[in-house]
Amino acid sequence: MPVSVLELFTIGIGPSSSHTVGPMRAARTFAAELVASPAGPRVTRVRAELFGSLGATGHGHGSEAAVLLGLEGEHPETVDTAATAERVGAIRAMHTLHLDAVGSPTPAAVRFDPERDLVLWRNRNLPGHPNGMTFTAWAGDELLVQRTFYSVGGGFVLEAADDGNPRVAPDPTVVPHPFRTGADLLRACTEHRLTIPEVMLANEVARRPAEQVREGLLRIWQVMQECVRAGCSTSGVLPGGLKVRRRAHRMARDLQQRSSRPGGDPDPLAALDWLTLWALAVNEENASGGRVVTAPTNGAAGIIPSVLHHVTHFVRDDEQTVIDFLLTAGAIGAIYQQTASISGAEVGCQGEVGTACSMAAAGLTQVMGGTPQQVCNAAEIGLEHHLGLTCDPVGGLVQIPCIERNAVGAIKAVTASRLALAGDGQQVVSLDQVIKTMMQTGADMKTKYKETARGGLAVNIVEC
Ligand code: SF4
Repeated sequence: MPVSVLELFTIGIGPSSSHTVGPMRAARTFAAELVASPAGPRVTRVRAELFGSLGATGHGHGSEAAVLLGLEGEHPETVDTAATAERVGAIRAMHTLHLDAVGSPTPAAVRFDPERDLVLWRNRNLPGHPNGMTFTAWAGDELLVQRTFYSVGGGFVLEAADDGNPRVAPDPTVVPHPFRTGADLLRACTEHRLTIPEVMLANEVARRPAEQVREGLLRIWQVMQECVRAGCSTSGVLPGGLKVRRRAHRMARDLQQRSSRPGGDPDPLAALDWLTLWALAVNEENASGGRVVTAPTNGAAGIIPSVLHHVTHFVRDDEQTVIDFLLTAGAIGAIYQQTASISGAEVGCQGEVGTACSMAAAGLTQVMGGTPQQVCNAAEIGLEHHLGLTCDPVGGLVQIPCIERNAVGAIKAVTASRLALAGDGQQVVSLDQVIKTMMQTGADMKTKYKETARGGLAVNIVEC
């Protein structure tokens, strides 16, 4: 069952979908259901433990703050990003947590000692996925409840089943064009004489009215634009200690000056600079814990907005174009969601930046008039040239190499689209074959290259 485009693109906070958005959602679910249960009034203490990649890089990825605010009932889409540090500081100072304070009329105030009750296990893993979390609640010495969740990428969270593996709840929705692979998607287009966004829209309408789909997608686009604006208007240094300077602010000013000259910008490669700017703006916002659209992850959140800004800036700026772009990118994302992984902790950066590039290339090809075959060709090329890409964030922060990697990924998406449009839809390598290759490559990749900050640039760049 293809996942909804409005679940693939969600509004959240930076810097990481799997390490920030997912943990906040899991903690919120645990707290809300605990407070609403008969055991709720008896809780005196809760404990959160993060395992695997979450334990190894959770500090740099903001996982601790996400868990604390999630336990207080905050949601990634609505949490006040400007107040995060102050809220977390208050919890740490007061040693008190208000369980589900946002969602419950009767939030429970419990003692919470961060040193004891928020544990990042750097060398311990849970069996079901590299991003595991266990939450435990007690009444005095009596254990009330213990639940384990996995943050499986893109902010998606699954609870552990009895055997320790993630439990996937079946989606009862019946959609008119179920597809799992690229071949399925192309078959649906051919049999019903539909474009890829038409297939995707028909499936979406099985879940919610067409008007809600449209509003939801335009809201996603609005937040992407707000994120770019925020990134372009903020200067200074990113948080976390690496002293990485924000560049989008100055670059935006320079590009605007160049393009306002009589006759326009004389640089024939100015379009590449704009793609770079839009991606940098989003990823600098993401790195500073700002509001971003997960697309399909936060580490790779700059690529799709960058390419969509390219479309509205240089090609066509109307609502239907934006909707078709996002539906097409979402259809490709749904294939990854069902047959692969978009988690850097599971398959490396090829699953994050590679997937985002693939989705953006598909969206661009669609709105440039490509056939369904050419759209899938573009998606294939977008991933093919990210195969083997490791995840090695310096200092465990989503900054180096992530921010520039999005700029390069956006440019690759445009190249992938143009290559596909120059072809006839026939390619040696299919989208399904390259996705299968990515998964095999990810399985062979050493753990140190999968969002642990123990390999690659992460160990060769000295933090100062
Ligand atoms: S290197 Fe890639 S996968 Fe790893 S945190 Fe950065 S963007 Fe995400």
